Order: sequence, then structure tokens, then C-alpha cells
Amino acid sequence: MGNTIFSKIINREIPADIVYETDSVLAFRDIKPQAPTHILIIPKIEIPSVRELSGKEHSQLLGDMIDAANAVAKKEKIDQDGFRLVLNCGANAGQEVYHLHIHLLGGRKMNWPPG
Ligand code: 5GP
Repeated sequence: MGNTIFSKIINREIPADIVYETDSVLAFRDIKPQAPTHILIIPKIEIPSVRELSGKEHSQLLGDMIDAANAVAKKEKIDQDGFRLVLNCGANAGQEVYHLHIHLLGGRKMNWPPG
């Protein structure tokens, strides 16, 4: 098992700054942070992107990822000032790692529209 760098992080084959973990999800700091807080929330099972999400089981998993994002935002003390969740899907969105992940960004004012 394990096609991407994130699978290696799940399996502890390569190091990461893990900040939160449950039975279904893992959260760790992005190696190239784009904000004072930049954390990736990933499912422990391999799903390449949003495109492959369907059905109740995946809805539950996505719910777990959002719960994790809220818990981490609170832990990082960015929940009150606000934060941004980003899910890049496919080439035009700039997805680099084909293991589903939510970017949790905070600690500074965000711009809109995104680049
Ligand atoms: P994407 O562009 O696919 O939405 O985002 C992938 C993210 O994964 C990027 O922000 C990138 O910096 C991060 N990343 C890539 N490789 C590693 C790694 O080995 N460790 C960590 N912690 N983050 C990584």
C-alpha cells in the first residue's frame, strides 16, 4: 500500500510534523507553508482527489476531515479570527499530490479571489 508521499507519512516511513490524528484522518504541517498556520488534513485511506468521492462512506469521511480541521483550528488558536479550507482537484487547480487533502490556512488575512 502507498503510492504517494502522504501514504509514506501515514505509514511513518518519512517524517512529518503531525498535529492531530484519529482512526480515519491525519493532520500535519505543510512542508512549504503559505500562511503562519498551514496544515494538511488527509484521510488514512487512499483516495486520489475530490473527483473520486461518492456515496455515504465518503461523506462520512469528508465529515471526519472537517471535524479534524475545526479541532486543529481551535488547537492552533485560529478559529476565532477565521481560516480558509482549500481542496485542490486536478491540474487546473494545481493539485500536486494525488492523495485527497484539505489545506487549513490561517494566522493572516487571506485574499480573495485566490490566484
Ligand atoms: P496540492 O497542491 O496537491 O493541493 O498540495 C500539496 C501540498 O503538499 C503542498 O502544499 C506541498 O507543499 C505539500 N507537500 C508536498 N510534499 C510534502 C511532504 O513531503 N511533506 C509535507 N509535510 N508536505 C508536503
